[in-house]
Amino acid sequence: MTLLEIKALSVTFPSNTGPVQAVRRVDLQIERGSIHGLIGESGCGKTMTGMALLGLAPQGARIAADVFRFDGMDLTTHAASLRGRRIALISQDPAAALNPVLTIGRQMDDVLRTHSAQPKAERRVAAVALLTATGLAGPELLLKRYPHQLSGGMQQRVVIAQALATGADFLIADEPTTALDVTVGAQVLALLRKLVAERGLTVLMITHDMDVVAAVCDRATVLYAGLSVEEGPARAILTHPRHPYAAALLAALPDAVPHGQRLAAIEGRIPSPTQPITGCAFALRCPSVMPVCHEVPPPRRGGSDHGWLCHLDGQAP
Ligand code: SF4
Repeated sequence: MTLLEIKALSVTFPSNTGPVQAVRRVDLQIERGSIHGLIGESGCGKTMTGMALLGLAPQGARIAADVFRFDGMDLTTHAASLRGRRIALISQDPAAALNPVLTIGRQMDDVLRTHSAQPKAERRVAAVALLTATGLAGPELLLKRYPHQLSGGMQQRVVIAQALATGADFLIADEPTTALDVTVGAQVLALLRKLVAERGLTVLMITHDMDVVAAVCDRATVLYAGLSVEEGPARAILTHPRHPYAAALLAALPDAVPHGQRLAAIEGRIPSPTQPITGCAFALRCPSVMPVCHEVPPPRRGGSDHGWLCHLDGQAP
C-alpha cells in the first residue's frame, strides 16, 4: 500500500538573479514497509526534497506539486504537524543531532515525554527498551552518558532510538552512514533493515552511495538537477540502468574499474539551479547525446515497474 505519493514536486526560491530551482520535478511513490533510495550527486535536490517532506524547506521557498500526499494527507498543509509524530529525520551527523550537554537519558526522556502521557518510571523502561531495540548494549548505563562518551555508531543508534520514541512510522535517513566507518555504517544499515522488517517502518534513504542502495533499498529513484530521471526496483537500476546518468554513477564506482585503471569520472558539472533547462538536463555530460536530446526527453517504461526519462529506449551504454 502506498504511504508517500509525490508527483511533480518543485521547490523554488526567489533571488535577485531569477528563480533558484532547488527541486524542478520530483516524482516519488513509496510503499509501506519498504526502503526507497533517493540517489544523486550533491546539488541534485535530494536533501531539499527531504526537507520539503518534513516541512523544513527554508523560509521563502515556494513548494508546488500536482500530488504531495502522505497516508492520504496533503503534505502542503500537514508536513509540519506530521514531523516528529509520523515522520522523523535521521541525519548524517548524529553528534549534531544530539545535545552535547544533556545525558542520553534526559534526551530520550524529553522525546518520550513529548509523545506520551506515561509516568517517568514507565518512560525510563521505554527508553531502555528502545535503546535495546537499536542494538545498544548496557542501555541502563548509557542513559547516564553524554553524547561525547559514545562512538559515532552508538550516537547514530541513539538518534534512531529517538526517532522510534516519537512513534514515527516513516524515517527520512539523510546519508546516515556518511560520517561512519564502513563496518559501523554497514551495521547501521542492517539495523534499519531489521527495524523495517520487525516494526513495519518505511524509510526514504537519501544517498549518493550506490553501495548503500545495493545493501538495503527495495526501490530507488535517481535524481539529476532536481529532476527524477529513473525509478524502479533497486536491483534493476543497479544491474541494468536505463538512464545514462544512472549508468555513469555506477561506472564511477571503484569496483566497476579493474585494479590499476583510472576511475571513470562523470565529466562536467550539474547545471546550476538558476539555469533554465531546455531539453535533457544531462545533455552536456551525456556520452550518448544526440541532436534530439535538445528536446525534452519522453518518459519510457521497461515493464510495469521501471521508468526513465530519455530519448534512448534501451539499456544505457
Ligand atoms: Fe543522454 Fe539524450 Fe538520454 Fe539525455 S536524452 S540522457 S542526452 S541520451
